[in-house]
Amino acid sequence: MKTVLSTITITLMAAATASAAFNAAEFPPLNAVPPITTPQVQEWLKAINLADVPVFPQNKGNPPVCPPAATLPANQCWRSCQSCRADDIVTCPTPGVWGLTFDDGPTTFTPQLLTTLKENKVKATFFVMGTNVVQNPTILKQEFDEGHHIASHTWSHQPLTTLSNEQIVAELKWTEKAVFDITGMQMKYVRPPYGDIDNRVRAVIKKLGYIIVDW
Ligand SMILES: [Zn+2]
Repeated sequence: MKTVLSTITITLMAAATASAAFNAAEFPPLNAVPPITTPQVQEWLKAINLADVPVFPQNKGNPPVCPPAATLPANQCWRSCQSCRADDIVTCPTPGVWGLTFDDGPTTFTPQLLTTLKENKVKATFFVMGTNVVQNPTILKQEFDEGHHIASHTWSHQPLTTLSNEQIVAELKWTEKAVFDITGMQMKYVRPPYGDIDNRVRAVIKKLGYIIVDW
């Protein structure tokens, strides 16, 4: 009996800890690239080595402006301007099988979508934005609890080729922390906003252990 009670107590404590872990006030300003000078981002940067990330220019504009194709090195593999996808996932492995994905949420419209998915017994992947996750933690938890797959779509939805390596780390790690604090789940997949990615951005994303999904 004593053992059973102890187990129940431990379970309750664990649940309380998980739900108490999320604190919206800890997160950076919404809809903007998170600053890279904060202690938390500096700690994340210390944990990875960016020294061997390939060097390609940080592009400008949203959407990025493509320079003449002949000036771009083939090994940059910039999807927006060279239609190059490297080893990004763009199809399902089994012919005739479709992956249903929704980007940019969660928002206040998401519960309606979740109801439709439930009625049709369909599971989907939600590529979520950190900015929207911290504003709608309960809706994110509902997506997760109803068996959908949660993946990253960055913090503030910038074309990633326009950001520095360190800014890309901040975009991904803050989103990762938000999802983890709310669900306890460690995300494994990233979809770059606008599909804007080159081999520099790919290398940074892979340093953080993620698999890249385009379309
Ligand atoms: Zn998007």
